[in-house]
Amino acid sequence: MKVLETPSGPVRLPAFFPDATYGAIRAGAFEDVYAAGLMGCEMNSYHLMTKPGAKLVKSLGGLHGFTGYSGAILTDSGGFQLYSLIRENPEYGEIRDKEIIFRPDRGREKLTFTPEKCMQVQFQYGSDIMMALDMCTHPDDPIEVQRRSVELTVKWGERCRAEFDKLAKRLDKKPLLFGIVQGGSDPQLRMECGRRLEAIGFDGYGFGGWPLDAEGNFRLDILRMAADAMLDNKVKYAMGLGRPEEIAALVKIGYSLFDCVIPTREARHQRLYTWLPGLDTPEGVRREDGKFYRFLYILDDEHRREDGPVDPACDCALCKNHSRAYLHHLFKVNDPYALHLATAHNLRFYGRLMELLGHE
Ligand SMILES: [Zn+2]
Repeated sequence: MKVLETPSGPVRLPAFFPDATYGAIRAGAFEDVYAAGLMGCEMNSYHLMTKPGAKLVKSLGGLHGFTGYSGAILTDSGGFQLYSLIRENPEYGEIRDKEIIFRPDRGREKLTFTPEKCMQVQFQYGSDIMMALDMCTHPDDPIEVQRRSVELTVKWGERCRAEFDKLAKRLDKKPLLFGIVQGGSDPQLRMECGRRLEAIGFDGYGFGGWPLDAEGNFRLDILRMAADAMLDNKVKYAMGLGRPEEIAALVKIGYSLFDCVIPTREARHQRLYTWLPGLDTPEGVRREDGKFYRFLYILDDEHRREDGPVDPACDCALCKNHSRAYLHHLFKVNDPYALHLATAHNLRFYGRLMELLGHE
C-alpha cells in the first residue's frame, strides 16, 4: 500500500507522525511538520482527557478545530498510560476483564475506562486514525499474562469495533480504526491474536507490547512476529517507534506507519541528525548496518565559529538560513528559538528519511 486515505486527506506511506502529545509539537510548530513533508501527528488520548478534557476539545471543533492542525491526526487508545501507571503501582487501579479501573490520585476517585469509552473519547477528538483498546504486556511477562492480554485485546477489540461502527454511522467521512496485535514474544500467540483481530476486521494493525527486553535490547524478532500476524494489504503500524535505523529496518519487514517522541526530544537536547555524506539516498537508508546518519552535538566547541550549515544536505529553515555558530550561540544564551530551529531540522530529517524509504 502506498497511500492511506484518511478523512483529512491521503497520507503517503511509509509515514512518520511526530508526537504532539498535548496537541502541540513541543518547542516546534505545525508549520514545521508541514515543511518537513510529514503528513500527520500523533496525539495522546489520555493526556488530552486530563487536560483540557475531551468534552472541551469536542466543543471547539475536535482536535483539528482546537489545534488548527489540518493534517491527519492519530490518537492512541489511552490504555497504555493507564497500563504503565498501574504496572508501576497497583494503587493506580486494576485491569479487569471488562474494563480498566483507574484511580488517578491513587485514592478514592475512581474512573472506569471501557472499550466503549475509549471510542467515544476518540470520536470527541474527531481523530482520523483511532486505536482500539488493548492490554499491553512486557516481552518478559509470563505466558499466562500474555494469554490474558491476547484474550482481553480481542474481546475489547470486538467491543471497540461495535462502538466505532455505531458512532461512525452519523459521519460522512469515516475515520479509520486500527486493532493492536499482542502476544509478547510467543509467535503462536501473536499469530492467534492477528487471526482473531482479522476476523473482527480493522483498517490497520498496530504492534502491541514493549519492543525492548529487560536488557533494553531492541527486539526486531518480536516486531517481525507481529508483522507476520498482520494482513499484508493493511497498514502495519509500529507504535511509539523509533530511531532512524529502527524505522529503516521495520520498513523492510512491512511496517509503514510510525510515531515517536525521539526527533523532537533529541532536538531539545541539542542533538541534530545529519546525513553521512552521500547517504541521503534510497540505497543509503537501506544499508544493512543502519549507519547513514550521525548526531551533531551543536554545543561542542568546534561549532562556535562555524559558518556552514548544520547539514549541507538539508533544506530546512535552519540549514537554509543560519550557521552552526548561530545555533550554537542561541543554545548558549538559552533562546527558545534554538529549540524551535533544532526541532524543525530534526523533523525535516525524518521527513526526508520517509521520502527515501518510500522510493522504489
Ligand atoms: Zn536542516
